[in-house]
This record gives sequence, structure tokens and C-alpha cells, in this order.
Amino acid sequence: MAQPASNAARPSSAAILLKYGIDVKEALDYGTFQKTCVQIFGTNEVEKHEWRVREVFELFDANADDVLTEQELHRCCNWIREIVNPVNVLLVVDVQNDFIDGTLALRNAGYGQEGTEVIEPINRLLNNGRWNKVIYSQDWHPHNHISFFENLAMRELHSESKVTKEIAKPFDTVVFSQPYLKQILWPRHCVMNTWGAELHKDLLILSSSERIYKGQHSDKESYSAFEKEADGSSKLEKILSSIGATHIYVCGLAYDVCVKETCLDGLRLGYSITVIDNSCRGVKPDDIIMAKKLIIENGGSVACTDRVLSMVNEGKCSLVMAHRTARIIREKNIL
Ligand SMILES: [Zn+2]
Repeated sequence: MAQPASNAARPSSAAILLKYGIDVKEALDYGTFQKTCVQIFGTNEVEKHEWRVREVFELFDANADDVLTEQELHRCCNWIREIVNPVNVLLVVDVQNDFIDGTLALRNAGYGQEGTEVIEPINRLLNNGRWNKVIYSQDWHPHNHISFFENLAMRELHSESKVTKEIAKPFDTVVFSQPYLKQILWPRHCVMNTWGAELHKDLLILSSSERIYKGQHSDKESYSAFEKEADGSSKLEKILSSIGATHIYVCGLAYDVCVKETCLDGLRLGYSITVIDNSCRGVKPDDIIMAKKLIIENGGSVACTDRVLSMVNEGKCSLVMAHRTARIIREKNIL
């Protein structure tokens, strides 16, 4: 099993400049910046994403004079520090019995998806990745949860609801009046403390990991692992900020539902997000393609298990993610 990542002190700006042979007394022009990027990302990445290199340079070049001077150079060092010393988190979404062999088994949706196929690549990530933290999420509902088709009689539907109680079937969407909520009616699934809600027995559970339980309130649905609690905060965000997480790698079930919503929430909150394509399975292939498109459009990236392991273990950096990091730094106005 790989050693967990260490939390060694981060290098100073001076150490970064020295490491990449940048002379602090001279202004850093685009050519030198590009050479530094080749050292960090490799020739192939830089050739493939040249426009990203240019845009990152322009993000730091506040006065647009085509060179980075003192303050701009310092900001550039902050960026390099973050991308070469990431705090990597593996987020394993809902690898639970009900989505694999139970009431919501993906294979029963009839689109050729098989939930057990995520277990081998996820265990490989768990065994071989040098993660700063591993977090497992679980759908964790009370028996009277609003999303269960079997509970439809328990609440009133809003007059807007096109589907009435009389004609509703599992997987239809209805609108409840109290609380006012548009909701897909799922077969009963992941009832807390039952077999269906347990993580699959073959999934490795690391001892130093954390758990996120979502959808625990009877009248609230949450596909995203960033579910907010009553006080408006999210447990996942608290864990991530307590360790200074910079990069979140997401895998699990279901790609086009909970994995997608978790990724989009993470991107909204300013994290670098990579969805691990071959470690996810979903309901419908067309919706999986849409989910990937949405994740990329919102600044996330899609990678396979081997690529993720090389990024996490060998420090191989992705220019797509580094570009995103530069934008985040700018958006947060800490440049
Ligand atoms: Zn659920």
C-alpha cells in the first residue's frame, strides 16, 4: 500500500525561483515562463495546451506589459507552490449495495451499466495513491424519505405536478407542495443502518478515512456530497478546509446523478475537480456524456485511473487543472 502523503512545509517563493532557475532580479518574460511550464508540466502538456500557458501568464501580468515583475512574480510563485504541492483528496461517492445489487442496481436500469466494475479501479486508487485524505460518501435515508416512491401517499402533491399520485410510477418526477420540491421518485433505497446502505463488501476502507452521510432529513434530497446542514455549512467543506485541500478526485456511483452533482458543487465552491472516468458508472450512457461535458464546461477535468495515480504519486501536473487553479486564485482575489 502506498505511503500516505506527507504534510511537509511548503517551499518559499525564493526556493521556488531557485528550483526553476528564475532570476528574481530580472523580469520574467513569456518565453522564460513557458520554459518554466515545460519543467513543471512536460513538453507534451505545454504543446497541447499552449493557449492555457499564455492565459495563465496574462492572468499574472496585471499591468499587461508582457513581463512579470516583483509583485506579479510573487503571485506566480504562489501559483507554482499550489500546483507542485497539491493537497490531494480522493472522494468515493456512494459505492453502496443498493446501487450495485439492491433496489437501485444500475444494471436493472437497462442501459448496460454495471456498478461492480468500479470496485477494482477504486481499490487500485486506494491501494496505490498517496492521498492526503480519503472520504467516502453514503446515501443515508430515513425510512420515510421524500424521494421514495413507496412514500408517495405520505405527502401532498402541488397543483403544478403534471404527474398525479394516481398515475405516478417509479422514476417519474413529481412536485410536492410541503415542502415545495421537484423530486424524482426512486424505489426505496439506502435506508440508514440497513444492508442496502452499506458500502460494498469488496470496497477497501482505509482506516484514516472520513465518511459523509447525505439525505438524512426525511424532507430533503441531496445528490451532492456537499449537502448543506441546517446551519448552512457542509461537513465535506469543513473536512476539506481543515486539511487545506486543493485537488479533489471524484469516483463512484452514479456518474450522471450523485457523482455529477458533487463535481459541479465542488467546482462552484472553487476546488480543482477531476472525475475519474473509468472509476465511475451511471444510469444512462447519454446522461454520462452530458455529465462529463458539464463538468468540463465548468472548469473540471476528466482523467483515467492511471493518469490520476501518476499525477498524485509522481507529481505529474495537469495544465488543465493548473489553469483552473490560476483562475481560482484570481477569482478569490488573492493574487
Ligand atoms: Zn437517495
